Amino acid sequence: MTKISIKLSRALSHVFAPTKFRCMICGADVFDGLGFCSHCKRDVVFNNGKTCLRCGVGIDGAEDYCTNCAFDKIYFDRAYSVFSYEGAVRQAILQMKFANMGSYAAVFAEYLVFMAQKHNLQYDAVTFAPMSAQSLKKRRYNQAQLLARHFCDILDQDDMLCQAVTKVKETSPQEQLDKAQRKTNLVGAYKINADVKGKRVLVIDDVKTTGATLNECAKVLKRAGAVQVIGLTVAARKENVMYDGDEEYYVRHNSGKSNKNI
Ligand SMILES: [Zn+2]
Ligand SMILES: [Zn+2]
Repeated sequence: MTKISIKLSRALSHVFAPTKFRCMICGADVFDGLGFCSHCKRDVVFNNGKTCLRCGVGIDGAEDYCTNCAFDKIYFDRAYSVFSYEGAVRQAILQMKFANMGSYAAVFAEYLVFMAQKHNLQYDAVTFAPMSAQSLKKRRYNQAQLLARHFCDILDQDDMLCQAVTKVKETSPQEQLDKAQRKTNLVGAYKINADVKGKRVLVIDDVKTTGATLNECAKVLKRAGAVQVIGLTVAARKENVMYDGDEEYYVRHNSGKSNKNI
């Protein structure tokens, strides 16, 4: 896309994003542009307890690192997540992914900016977890790309935004696989797509589940010469908490319900 058409599509996405001033859960008016009314905010869980010093996932106990970071080869340098993936945030993210509410990315990007500023993140390029062509055709947008675009827009860092990695293979959702399958599932799924030699790359995504997506993207980026890879996601799944699949959860919680935002 040319710079002008990127600007134009962004302007249009603002026109079609009145949800910024509505609660993402109940549709009530909100006046801070931060997506949750005072009632639904009570069901928002920030990821501000004890977290893994590498990947930022919420952990219990005395260890400094989660099991993944303690025992697996980790290619990214650090990762941060704003929320715990539960309650109102999980609902809003699922709406963003499965109910055509890509406009929620504008709201969540505000939180990503807070997080980046809080930790004084330094980077030369901003990118996002890619979707395969097949998945993109189905959803028609990549919520991670929307988040990255709004993030750069808020910070006036449009020139840093790039698609550094592409996904060339369809994969199964990681949470549905056992540990051995997870290791092979993503092998060869990502390819480098931009010159990242010598760059510090920030990778944005909506949810960090097992961290495998970020890790595989980081592997590809590091092999292409990136000097640092930092992950930044809206939410992270807590370690050792079992979740049911997202699509099943979404259908169960939304069948028969009408959402005022849709
Ligand atoms: Zn609400
Ligand atoms: Zn970790």
